[in-house]
Amino acid sequence: MPKTKRDYYEVLGVARNATAEEIKAAYRRLAKEYHPDRNPDNRTEAEEKFKELSEAYEVLADPEKRRLYDMYGHEGVAGQFGPGGFDFRRHFTHEEDLEDIFGDIFRGFGGGSGTLFDLLFGSESPRTTVRRTRGRDIVVRMRLTLEEIANGVTKEISFSRYEACSECGGAGGTGRVACSTCQGQGRVKRQARSVFGQFFQIASCPDCRGTGERLRNICSQCGGEGRVRQSRKLKVRIPAGVSSGTPIVLHNEGHWAPGGSGDLIIEIEEKDHPIFLRDGDNIVVEVPISIPVAVLGGRVKVPTLDGFKEVEIPAGTASGTVFRLRGAGIKRLEGGSGDELVKVVVHIPRHLTREERALYKQLMEMKSESVPEPRKPGEG
Ligand SMILES: [Zn+2]
Ligand SMILES: [Zn+2]
Repeated sequence: MPKTKRDYYEVLGVARNATAEEIKAAYRRLAKEYHPDRNPDNRTEAEEKFKELSEAYEVLADPEKRRLYDMYGHEGVAGQFGPGGFDFRRHFTHEEDLEDIFGDIFRGFGGGSGTLFDLLFGSESPRTTVRRTRGRDIVVRMRLTLEEIANGVTKEISFSRYEACSECGGAGGTGRVACSTCQGQGRVKRQARSVFGQFFQIASCPDCRGTGERLRNICSQCGGEGRVRQSRKLKVRIPAGVSSGTPIVLHNEGHWAPGGSGDLIIEIEEKDHPIFLRDGDNIVVEVPISIPVAVLGGRVKVPTLDGFKEVEIPAGTASGTVFRLRGAGIKRLEGGSGDELVKVVVHIPRHLTREERALYKQLMEMKSESVPEPRKPGEG
C-alpha cells in the first residue's frame, strides 16, 4: 500500500463526475493490465496495484460508499472495512465484474478451496513456493510413564525424514535451463471437467514443480528431487515434569527443504499409572489401613515413585485423612518437586473369623467413647 492513500478517482483514472459505467469500464481495463499473468516479473507491484484499484472500485461502485467518500474523503469510508483497512479477500464484492477478464481462472476455482485472490497472487506463484519453502515438521508421539515424567528420562526415537541429497547438495542436479513445458512460467493451464462442463485451471507446472526451471543433468542419487528419505535415530532428553500436551520442539530436526529444515515435535502422552493419580506436580494415592492401625496408630508401607516408604500413622486417624510426603511428587520443570498426597482409608473387614466377631461384639457392649450426633458434612 502506498504511504499516503491516493484519491480513488485518481487510482481509477476517472473524473469525479464519472458515471457508474465509466467507473466499471476503467476498473476492468486496469484489472486486466495488472493481471498477474501479465506481470510475471513484478508480481508484488501488480498485486499492490490490483488491491489499490479494487479498493477504489469497491467504494466508487457503491452509491452510498461513493457519497460518503465524496463528502468526507478516505475517512468517510474507513469504517466500511474494519481496522485493518480494505482486504480483498473479505471486502471485495464485485467478483462478477472480473469474471470474463479472469474467466478461465474463475471457473477453475468455483467450489474449490481458496479465493480468487489466492488464485491470482497466492500459492501458485512461481519462485516462491517451491524453492523457499521450509521443510515440514515431523510429529512424534512418545508415551511416558509417570516415573519417567517424575524424574526426566533420555529416550531414543526413530523416525524417517527427508534430508538433503549428499550427492548434489540438494540442488537435484546441475545445469539449469528454462522448463519447456511451461516456458519458464512455472504455471500451466490445464483442462479439467466437472459437472458444470469443461474449464481451465491454472496449476503449478508438473514438470518443474512451479520453479520454471529444469536441470540438464539430473542427480542419479535423488532422481532430481534434491532430497532423500533417511531413517534417523535420535536420543532425546525429556526433562522432568512434562505433561500431555507439552510439545518438545527440536528445531531443524524435521524434513529438509531448500528453505531450511522443519522442526521435530515430540508430543508427550502420559501413560495411565496403575495406582497414582497425577494432580499437577503432585501425585495422589489411596492407602487402606486396618481399624486397629487407625485407632492405635502404627507404621504402614506407602508406595512412592521410588519404591515403598514406611509412614507413621498416628493413633486416632480418621478415614479420609491426607498425609503429605513433601518432595515425593514430580520434579518441576523450573526446579523443586511436588508432593505425594497419601489418603488413608479405613478398611472395614467383611469376612470375620468367629474369634474376631466375638471381639467386635465385646467392643460393642463396652461403654466406650460414644459416636457423635449426625452433622453437616465437613464439620468433623
Ligand atoms: Zn541428488
Ligand atoms: Zn515447468
